[in-house]
Amino acid sequence: MLNNCENCGGKLYFSPKDKANVCESCGSLFPLEYNYQFSKKTFDEHQISAEDDALANSMSSIKCKSCGANVLLSKYQMQTTCPYCGNSSIVKGKAKNMLYIDSLIPFNFSKTEALSKFKSTVRKRFYANKKIFKNINENAINGIYVNAFVFDIETSSSYRGVFSYTRTVKDRDGNSHTETFYKNVSGFFDKAYKNITIEANSHLDQSDLGSIMPFQYGSAVEFKQDFMHGYMLEYQDRMFNDCVKMAEKIINRDIEQRLLEKHGCTKIERLSLHTDYPDKRYNYCLLPVYFVNSEVKGKKYNVLMNGQTGKVGKIPKDKWRVFFTILLIAVLFVGAILLVMYLF
Ligand SMILES: [Zn+2]
Ligand SMILES: [Zn+2]
Repeated sequence: MLNNCENCGGKLYFSPKDKANVCESCGSLFPLEYNYQFSKKTFDEHQISAEDDALANSMSSIKCKSCGANVLLSKYQMQTTCPYCGNSSIVKGKAKNMLYIDSLIPFNFSKTEALSKFKSTVRKRFYANKKIFKNINENAINGIYVNAFVFDIETSSSYRGVFSYTRTVKDRDGNSHTETFYKNVSGFFDKAYKNITIEANSHLDQSDLGSIMPFQYGSAVEFKQDFMHGYMLEYQDRMFNDCVKMAEKIINRDIEQRLLEKHGCTKIERLSLHTDYPDKRYNYCLLPVYFVNSEVKGKKYNVLMNGQTGKVGKIPKDKWRVFFTILLIAVLFVGAILLVMYLF
């Protein structure tokens, strides 16, 4: 790994456009090799894969006193504010040993491009609160590699239970009412799940990550620290086994949903479901995410952007726009009723 410019000793940053590290001072380019690979390991390999001392030694950590976020950055990188909440009360520390990282999806566009993509998305979304992000500049944007365990899990289930569905029926007098029908169900169900992505840091909500999914894992490369110049790394504070449990929970909910569909029902009355996992594999991968911060009247806002595809997550809503839409719908509704009453 190259820490500084070979020609002048200047600081390097990763440039997605050049697929290279670029020197901040003299502009020298150091092209990076993209070794595309996203192979998955068995869970046994997790037990033996050593924690990575070398990586921890070359990084330092910062912890935010305000929101509790914990991120890592290269020792040569300066950061004076929390990338999540923008607060400047941060404490520097040493990085602890980390789990061996398998792969990484490189950032696909620069901070500058991220800013213009973000602004055009805010403009396009009707309900977005445009005031919050009106005056932001590049300083409001931080690129962070988010930790994730990406799982491939084969499932084989047997089940028995009672499902139900409701249907509107008409009686002899022509009055309609809903009736519930019950079905005894049992059988077997197999399905292989691919790329179930679980956030390995508890600070970021799984649903926040969900809002900027999917990532295209075909573009993942073998992990190399060279890709991280100028970017931060999120701390992995969620245990591997907890992430496995979260993945199984997601899978379990999906299996239940598919069983309902299979039997043409909408509700589980009773279900005994037993699932085996003939094959489980994972890849510990870093995902590129831009965090866009803003502060209005002391209130902090943070929106996520997928650093590979440019997809923007949940943006705070403009309360007045929502209010007037509801009002408009109410007025139209009342108007329609009055019209019907007038005509008949
Ligand atoms: Zn240089
Ligand atoms: Zn913070």
